[in-house]
Amino acid sequence: MGAQQVRDGFAALYGTEPDGVWAAPGRVNLIGEHTDYNDGFVMPFALPHTATAAVSRREDGVLRLHSADIEGGVAELRVADLAPESDKSWTAYPAGVVWALREAGHPVTGADIHLASTVPAGAGLSSSAALEVVVALALNDLYELGLRGWQLARLCQRAENVYVGAPVGIMDQTASACCEAGHALFLDTRDLSQRQIPFDLAAEGMRLLVVDTQVKHSHSEGEYGKRRAGCEKGAALLGVDALRDVAYDDLDAALARLGDEEEVRRLVRHIVTENHRVERVVSLLSSGDTRAIGPVLVEGHASLRDDFRISCPELDLVVDTAMASGALGARMTGGGFGGSAIVLLEEADVEPVTKAVEKAFATAGFTAPRVFEAVPAAGARRLV
Ligand code: ADP
Ligand code: MG
Repeated sequence: MGAQQVRDGFAALYGTEPDGVWAAPGRVNLIGEHTDYNDGFVMPFALPHTATAAVSRREDGVLRLHSADIEGGVAELRVADLAPESDKSWTAYPAGVVWALREAGHPVTGADIHLASTVPAGAGLSSSAALEVVVALALNDLYELGLRGWQLARLCQRAENVYVGAPVGIMDQTASACCEAGHALFLDTRDLSQRQIPFDLAAEGMRLLVVDTQVKHSHSEGEYGKRRAGCEKGAALLGVDALRDVAYDDLDAALARLGDEEEVRRLVRHIVTENHRVERVVSLLSSGDTRAIGPVLVEGHASLRDDFRISCPELDLVVDTAMASGALGARMTGGGFGGSAIVLLEEADVEPVTKAVEKAFATAGFTAPRVFEAVPAAGARRLV
């Protein structure tokens, strides 16, 4: 969505020009799945798809919210009345950010917000974090709060955890706030230290496809909670703060100590091997061995499918079909039970692999997937 269009939408709605226009992207995660609530490593990059918000400051305690993508008019709230888990609609995301900023002592006295997003919602591409981060960045600028990207990410996570009531990790918000064009973000979710890793596939004749399966299996939220609880149980049984503290070289010993806790053993094995896979991908990309990350992505998928058990027939079909059609690597990305998969492939294979996946979905009787190419784009920024 162009800045001008969102600006015009704001003017038509509120009758004045906005103070500015900001954008924050969705993301895909290259590797490091479900590690972000285990103090582990992740490696997302930003999509060109963004939430774009036109915003003005208000001093009278009123917060007005409008999305071009949602039926219904302007929601009008009072910042002093914002309360966690009081709102089950989309407005909880931006209102939660205002609440989290105020809770942290930042004097946000209201705003008029009009936004529109090109990030597909519920596709595992983090439309929710894009929404939160664009609002946080706009208020940070308008109220001159001076907060850094990682600090905004923390506040947005708090908004989603406490205000919306979704127990998400820190990856999505940090990716949206901190990613840079042409790079993947190597993030240590324990201390939020980051490294921008050059990731320019086109320069090496490769491409990365996102395949949005367009399905979201209904039990996903409950299953997410169970995985989180299982990981916490694993850490407690092993006497560590988080599964991040189990070294890859000590994995066999750790699994042996878990005895007959088969479910927990599988979760622990995924998290420990997944952290190791992130480190392997960082090392391969840093040494220019980009094609060699393909098999690591496939291993990651197998681990999510067999150990963490959060894949589904649609995601497995993308990965199996892509690999059988010559892709370099493929894996599900995001929370699981639907959403999207990524496929790494040679430029020349884009068309045949896309066709093969589409054909396999038609044959299986699945909804046609949405396939698009992802180029690492910029993180959150002011447009106007
Ligand atoms: P994901 O972040 O993977 O896309 P979530 O379930 O975390 O999925 O977030 C999706 C929710 O974010 C939507 O149900 C809606 O409430 C909100 N949302 C996303 N995009 C928009 C938009 N353009 N306008 C209003 N709300 C949106
Ligand atoms: Mg989300």
